[in-house]
Amino acid sequence: MPEPVILLDELTKEFPADPPVRALSAINLRVEKSDYVAIVGPSGSGKSTLLNTLGLLDRPTSGSYRLDGIETVGLKDSVRTTIRGSRIGFVFQSFHLLPHRSVLENVMLAEVYGAAPRAGRRERALRALERVRLSHRVGYLPGKLSGGERQRAAIARALMGDPSLLLCDEPTGNLDSKNTDAVLDLFDDLRAQGMTIVVITHESDVSDRAGRRVRITDGVLTEE
Ligand code: ADP
Ligand code: MG
Repeated sequence: MPEPVILLDELTKEFPADPPVRALSAINLRVEKSDYVAIVGPSGSGKSTLLNTLGLLDRPTSGSYRLDGIETVGLKDSVRTTIRGSRIGFVFQSFHLLPHRSVLENVMLAEVYGAAPRAGRRERALRALERVRLSHRVGYLPGKLSGGERQRAAIARALMGDPSLLLCDEPTGNLDSKNTDAVLDLFDDLRAQGMTIVVITHESDVSDRAGRRVRITDGVLTEE
């Protein structure tokens, strides 16, 4: 049996306050390679905290998080940052594209602050844009794209480090249903290539396409 991509064991996250805010409460979760998991739940229930923890942006208060078999909780910040850069891609509701840079430049800029070698950056960006079927838009400014194309450009940027796990916070929240479908089709393509995808969503079209749905209520996770 290969290691699961994500293995959470009694993962708990408290934010300091008086009394402390328990955002995640003893969460157990196992996600296999190529799974597509939707996380649903009301506002303030802990969804973003869970995604930030999975993305190694937030450190849990207690419990275990094994990513691709690596126990991450006790690792130094610098090691966590390296793992994040090489294994995890992030996609957000707002696309965070620079308006005065072309699609290709926006995707290439993913690596400016990373450890990736400069050589081959353009080729990697072109390949990422091919994966999201945006090769015909490389020279466009973001303002000339549809919402769905903008999100695909942002997904191409997330693919630059060749991640094995894509973490998405309301990725279709700014899209109409046609563009939502295009992004969901792209997720299917990426999964067929071995990508594991975790998506926070309020939209039933997005969670219905997921293989699995988990619900968070007041920091407690239940499988649906
Ligand atoms: P959701 O994404 O489901 O809306 P969050 O994960 O953002 O929920 O928040 C879960 C709980 O943790 C909320 O009570 C929120 O106020 C609290 N919280 C989130 N981030 C912080 C923080 N940085 N400091 C203190 N409390 C936080
Ligand atoms: Mg949130």
